[in-house]
Amino acid sequence: MIASPCVAKCKPENGLCTGCLRTINEIVGWVQLTDAQRDYKIKSVRRMISTHTCPGCQQPTQCDIAAGKETCWCFDLPKCDTPEPVTDTSQCYCRHCLTTMVNQE
Ligand SMILES: [Zn+2]
Repeated sequence: MIASPCVAKCKPENGLCTGCLRTINEIVGWVQLTDAQRDYKIKSVRRMISTHTCPGCQQPTQCDIAAGKETCWCFDLPKCDTPEPVTDTSQCYCRHCLTTMVNQE
């Protein structure tokens, strides 16, 4: 069983935790994930896997859509609540950049 990556500095603002960089849905739904799904999430947050480079900080970031999934973790964020589906996932920002952005509002 893989433990939650929560670092006890949780400060969920606008849907993204500034401590562990997970969305509220990821935090709430954590107990229901399989170990494989948890492993995937942790690697995604820690930049151990990536689909493209973040246009904001030029660091590797993971888009679940680009990885072949139907939804992406960023759909949980108010920032990404766009009426149009994202067609160019190479323009998606990473969790670190989005945390900074949403907390500036
Ligand atoms: Zn970034």
